[in-house]
Amino acid sequence: MSQHLNQLLSKNQHDKNELVELLSVNSEETQTILDKALDIKALNVGRKVYLRGLIELSNVCSKNCYYCGIRAENKKVKRYTLTEEEVLHCADFAWRQGFGSLVIQTGEQSGQSFTALIEHLLIKIHQNTRHELSVTLSCGEQPYAVYRRWKDAGADRYLLRIETTNKALYYKIHPNDSNHLWETRIEALASLKQAGYQVGTGVMIGLPGQTLDDLANDLLFFRALDVDMVGMGPYIEHSDTPLYSSSHLLWPPEERFRMGLLMIALLRINMPLINIAASTALETLDPLGRQKGILAGANVVMPNLTPVNSRKNYQLYNNKPNLDKDASISTTNLSAAIADIGETICLSEPGHSLHFLNRIKS
Ligand code: SAM
Ligand code: SF4
Repeated sequence: MSQHLNQLLSKNQHDKNELVELLSVNSEETQTILDKALDIKALNVGRKVYLRGLIELSNVCSKNCYYCGIRAENKKVKRYTLTEEEVLHCADFAWRQGFGSLVIQTGEQSGQSFTALIEHLLIKIHQNTRHELSVTLSCGEQPYAVYRRWKDAGADRYLLRIETTNKALYYKIHPNDSNHLWETRIEALASLKQAGYQVGTGVMIGLPGQTLDDLANDLLFFRALDVDMVGMGPYIEHSDTPLYSSSHLLWPPEERFRMGLLMIALLRINMPLINIAASTALETLDPLGRQKGILAGANVVMPNLTPVNSRKNYQLYNNKPNLDKDASISTTNLSAAIADIGETICLSEPGHSLHFLNRIKS
């Protein structure tokens, strides 16, 4: 290893220039950084993985993000919302399997009935599982009062990606209108913190036109916001979206994958106690993607529990994996794969962010 890389890796906080340098490394040096991140993970959060059962509750969405397969204007999508019975069945499966928690994800919807639906589901899930599952929500931008209501109904964490911290790039991947304001995202993240959530954000990696400078700024943003968890992963194109026409500008998939791992590793080095998810997008680009994400410093995976007949209608990008495997098969395969790489799956534990637990103590 070069003396210089060695020196950089002996630090636990990097500035902008150092991050750009660390993001510019070749593949051999990438492995050195991933190994360092795994050591830091082992020391701070242990060689442990928490399972969050993912329920894709609804693909109904009022927004038109240019990259996303379930955007409102994609008329090819068959819209669905799972029934209460289906959701409670998924929660029951997760509980019996010893998952510590659930993630409920939806397209962005607003209004009284949507607020009440999420609130009702939270209450029923907790009743049915003896309050033994923690719940993460990922339901987009909402007013503070709605976040508060869901928190009171039993939500613990909230994931709202900033997508990119480069505002000019943000408006290349979103319509520039009042429904897609970058400032609203920032305000929503502040509201979530104020409402008492463990707050998660994240970005897509390898967007058309994105630079290493942008990715370094993304990492600095996570630190400045003092987030408790991050879910980030490679951007993957969807052929029925406006951003597909910029596909010629993309890094090759293997490069987006390597950068995805590198971002996880640098984040683990700079924010050792947060929860970091190994995203499904990593698995889409490499069949071993989630295991590689864990070995780069991630400590959370989200097996998909959505009923198979709805899963095909929640395709954010091309080639979504595990479309036809039901929850019990994909969970068994994933658990075996995680054990194989020397990690311990923490069953029946909520897996709260240690960063959050320290934050509320101080
Ligand atoms: N609607 C909510 C929101 O936007 O926050 C939650 C669901 S949304 C589908 C969850 C995440 O999917 C987004 O934050 C975005 O980063 C990711 N996503 C959407 N399209 C993607 C794509 N083509 N490639 C990679 N990630 C994508
Ligand atoms: Fe809707 Fe979220 Fe997709 Fe944007 S990323 S179109 S808000 S589901």
